[in-house]
Amino acid sequence: MTSTWVEPSNTATALLLLGRGSDPDTERGVECPGDLPAPSDPDLVARAAAAKAKLGSRVFVLGHHYQRDEVIQFADVTGDSFKLAREAAARPDAEYIVFCGVHFMAESADILTTDAQRVILPDLAAGCSMADMAVLGQVEAAWDTLTELGIAGETVPVTYMNSSADIKGFVGRNDGVVCTSSNAKRALDWAFEQGSKVLFLPDQHLGRNTAVLEMGLSLDDCVLYDPHKPGGGLTAGQLRAAKMILWRGHCSVHGRFTLESVNDVRERVPGVNVLVHPECRHEVVTAADYVGSTEYIIKTVEAAPAGSAWALGTELNLVRRLALAHPDKQIMFLDKAVCYCSTMNRIDLPHLVWTLEELVAGRVPNQITVDADTAHHARVALDQMLALPGAATPPPVVA
Ligand code: SF4
Repeated sequence: MTSTWVEPSNTATALLLLGRGSDPDTERGVECPGDLPAPSDPDLVARAAAAKAKLGSRVFVLGHHYQRDEVIQFADVTGDSFKLAREAAARPDAEYIVFCGVHFMAESADILTTDAQRVILPDLAAGCSMADMAVLGQVEAAWDTLTELGIAGETVPVTYMNSSADIKGFVGRNDGVVCTSSNAKRALDWAFEQGSKVLFLPDQHLGRNTAVLEMGLSLDDCVLYDPHKPGGGLTAGQLRAAKMILWRGHCSVHGRFTLESVNDVRERVPGVNVLVHPECRHEVVTAADYVGSTEYIIKTVEAAPAGSAWALGTELNLVRRLALAHPDKQIMFLDKAVCYCSTMNRIDLPHLVWTLEELVAGRVPNQITVDADTAHHARVALDQMLALPGAATPPPVVA
């Protein structure tokens, strides 16, 4: 059986205007100060190649798996966010790290690289809607609530890698740990050795799926803390009884898949394997055949036998690339509608060309810096992750 990639139908999902206005409370919405080349410029590929060649080993371009092909072609390495941050840290000779991903990823790279290295995000409007769902002031207010109830001391904060440096810093200051979608169980095992409760930020789905499907907790052990409601919308009794306090955050890409998507593809394609990311909703993950991080999804598809059929519940750029790379397998998108990460897609070839040409001209655009105090505490939480039992193996992977 061979497959021909069929593009899902278009959807009315709104994209925020690119690089317009300012929204200081989120990771996105900062105007791009430069004159971007027109997307129609036929010389964009040649211009990017020429600028990159001029910069040589002074520049290292990182490309997240969810980036567009037009950008990925210029990446020196591709991967998930944590792999890319580590790759950046492993290149201390590279003066400029151009991070084709989203804002929190560039922050992590800045934390893990030397002071002499500059981390650059080609479009400052490339944020992450999930990371934006946990703002430091909200998390501190939640912690105050737990403190007033006398349960903060027994609560260990755990944050997903997909969070801002501020949140990682909060977690480091409060003796918690960062986790990824691959090591979430190990992080929770460790956290429950330190305390009797976990405050899990910012992705409710990864927290719930790991707690229930991998740790043996029940759905009743989990409560959902809504930062927009007083006390998270929970009673003191609910917070005291809970083992997992899940932050009300989610990924706007993986959160779109539904149980209907799974049932529908099973009806349309008999024998299909459904493989989804743990950022998907609990009912989707429960109905799937396989669940795992971005790297797990890639490896599983690569290892699958020719002729097998796979419906993938993850970002569309990656699914399309996998389908085109494995024409001997039937690889399809789990949903019928397009499901890009709109913020990832803000980084396009014009932004990359502009970034590289600015560097050639001796100007450093869109540098991402994390202040020293935040970086110190965030590093504590990241180091705690690296010290988790079993973490000696190559580090885990994230969306
Ligand atoms: S795919 Fe989801 S978690 Fe990843 S950057 Fe996009 S919105 Fe954030």
